[in-house]
Amino acid sequence: MKSPFENALNQLARATAVKKINKEVLLRLQKPEREVSVSIPVRMDSGEVKLFEGYRVQYSSARGPYKGGIRFHLDTNIDEVRALALWMTVKCAVSGIPMGGGKGGITVNPKELSLGEIERLSRGWVKLMYPVLGPSLDVPAPDVNTTPQIMAWMNDEYKKITGLPNDATFTGKPIEAGGSKGRGEATGMGGFYVYEVFAKEFGLSGGATVVIQGMGNVGSNAARIFKNHGSRIIAMSDSKGGIYSEEGLNPQDVDQYKKEHGTLTGFPNAKEISNADLLLLRCDVLIPAALENQITGENARDIKAKIILELANGPTTPEADDILFTRGIPVIPDVLANAGGVIVSTFEWEQNLKSEHWSEVQVLEKLKLILSSEAKGIYSKSVELKTDLRRGAFIIALERLEESMK
Ligand code: NAD
Repeated sequence: MKSPFENALNQLARATAVKKINKEVLLRLQKPEREVSVSIPVRMDSGEVKLFEGYRVQYSSARGPYKGGIRFHLDTNIDEVRALALWMTVKCAVSGIPMGGGKGGITVNPKELSLGEIERLSRGWVKLMYPVLGPSLDVPAPDVNTTPQIMAWMNDEYKKITGLPNDATFTGKPIEAGGSKGRGEATGMGGFYVYEVFAKEFGLSGGATVVIQGMGNVGSNAARIFKNHGSRIIAMSDSKGGIYSEEGLNPQDVDQYKKEHGTLTGFPNAKEISNADLLLLRCDVLIPAALENQITGENARDIKAKIILELANGPTTPEADDILFTRGIPVIPDVLANAGGVIVSTFEWEQNLKSEHWSEVQVLEKLKLILSSEAKGIYSKSVELKTDLRRGAFIIALERLEESMK
């Protein structure tokens, strides 16, 4: 299996095979502008000190300050963060927001840490990274296993060290700590707005059956939103496995059960299903909302969904893209489908800089306007170039990056 960064570079190359892009732009996108690796000492509850590896990859500032989440995961490494930072560069350009691309992370399993240890680790990352952060330089946000609470600690640490009076260095904060209304559900909501455009284009009627892999911030919110708009959620999963019910699951009940039992096993009136089998279920919409490299050359021929909405970053490999395109299964690419998070993060940054507070209705209206219009543009581009939606999206992003670099 290729690494996420190899896949990301491959996606760039594949897009430029369908439309010629300025050579200098492509050259500048082969490598990040800056990478920072740090070793973070953390005093554990036991009294001993442990070292954790942390990263920030600042990929491109051509369109504005670096923007992208921070991931806490045992498999996180510099290669993964580099890939995620390149995807952020493309995503911010696809969204038309005035942001560049970046990403951060720490190699850690946060489930093995106490809340106090997570706070010290989060503040420790900022103590070492603060010289390369700031509202006009680099604005991080949450990602896998990082929460609004963690963003509040990081923002607090940054303000203590630098004396900055505003909250615009970190987004995805709790509302009481300078967060934006609508940020919590922004990625799922954005995914739904994008889906609505393509459902029309591809003739999917209301009441779709939906399968969702991953039930964190993105997957759980998406499940709730799709259900509220008339879809039937027939399967959901977490890292340990999933549950399936043809009659439909109530996402709120599933979340509650997981909170109480720490697992989906034993959820009433549902069959257990592995993550591998869940991806192969017959459904209208398959939503990967967990990690990279889930839909691959190995399983793409057996996918039975009518459409794939990538709410995770990098869930589909280039080999799988080719197989799905040939089979006529549209893949709505991550750089568009999950852009709601970074768009509302940018709204949060703007509100923090201007000391404004926008209502949820304002936030969601603006989000819908941007994503519906970009989704239509990407659909037209892919039709014009007779290619898939990912290549269409990449070409639009690369043309915008070229304009900014000029
Ligand atoms: P999260 O930490 O809130 O949740 C991750 C979920 O994935 C958990 O339910 C976990 O159990 C599950 N999971 C982990 N490994 C799995 C596996 N192998 N199989 C099935 N499930 C697995 O993270 P999140 O913020 O919801 O992010 C999920 C994805 O969405 C990531 O790819 C992330 O980069 C992307 N994303 C997140 C945001 C955001 O705003 N949080 C924005 C854009 C994209």
